[in-house]
Amino acid sequence: MAKKSPLAEKLDEVRDRIAKACAKAKRDVSEVTLIAVTKTAAPEQIREILQLGVGDLGESRVQVLQQRAVQVNEFYARQKAHDGENLPAKLRWHMIGHLQRNKVKPILPLVSVIHSIDSLRLAEEIDQHAAKANKKVPVLMQVNASEESSKFGVAVGASVHLAEQIDSMENVQLIGLMTMAPLEGGDEAARRTFLRTREIFEEMKWHKIGGTGLKHLSMGMSNDFETAIEEGATMIRVGTLLFGGKVADEEMSEE
Ligand SMILES: *Cc1c(COP(=O)(O)O)cnc(C)c1O
Repeated sequence: MAKKSPLAEKLDEVRDRIAKACAKAKRDVSEVTLIAVTKTAAPEQIREILQLGVGDLGESRVQVLQQRAVQVNEFYARQKAHDGENLPAKLRWHMIGHLQRNKVKPILPLVSVIHSIDSLRLAEEIDQHAAKANKKVPVLMQVNASEESSKFGVAVGASVHLAEQIDSMENVQLIGLMTMAPLEGGDEAARRTFLRTREIFEEMKWHKIGGTGLKHLSMGMSNDFETAIEEGATMIRVGTLLFGGKVADEEMSEE
C-alpha cells in the first residue's frame, strides 16, 4: 500500500482519538460529527480530506467560505460523476464564525448549517431570506458560556429566552447550541464551559424549545475536542490539528 499522506495520518489520529473519547464517555461514535475547519487549509488539502471521506467542512470567514464553497462544490460534483467511491455521500458547509446581517443573503445558498446565531436581529434576517428562498435553515445559537467579554455569543442569562424567540420563527430551525472554550484556563475551564452549555441545552429541552429537532451541541476544537465529547458534543470543529498552520492575525481580526 502507498504511504499515507500527512493529512491522511492526521485524520486517522483524530478519528482514533474521537473513538477513544466516545468509548470513555460510553457514547457511540456515530453521535459525533467531525467538522473539518478549513481556516488554515490549502485548497488541495480540502480536496484531499473530501476524498478521505470527510463531508462536513467549516469556515469562519464569509468571503473565504463563498470562494471555497464554489470551487470545492464543483470539484465534488466532478469527482462524484466518475470515480467517487471514497467521497462522502454529502458535502455540507458549516458557517462557524461571526456573521454580519448584510452577509446573510450571499451565504445562505451555500451553507447547510449556521452555528453562530448570536442575536435576535441576525436570526430575523436569516428567517426573512430563508422565507424568500422557500427553505428552512438549520441553525445553532452561539452561547458565550465562558462569559469572556471579548467573545461573541449570547450571554448565559439571556440564552433560553432568545432560543425561545428563535424557535418561533417559521424559516429557521433551531437544532442546538454552539460554544467556544476560553483561550486561557486549560482543560478545566474548557470543561466548565462545555458543561454550562449542556445545562442550557437541557433547560431548553425541558421547556420543549426546538422540539425533537433540538439535538446538537457544537463544541470542541483541536485543543479540547475530547473534553467536549465527554461533555456531550455532537459536532466538533477541528482545524489546525488536521491541516497544520496558523491563522494570520489579520484574518483573525476579520472574523
Ligand atoms: C478556527 C475555528 C475552529 C477551529 O479551531 P482549531 O483550534 O484550529 O481546531 C473552530 N471553531 C471556530 C468557531 C473557529 O473559528
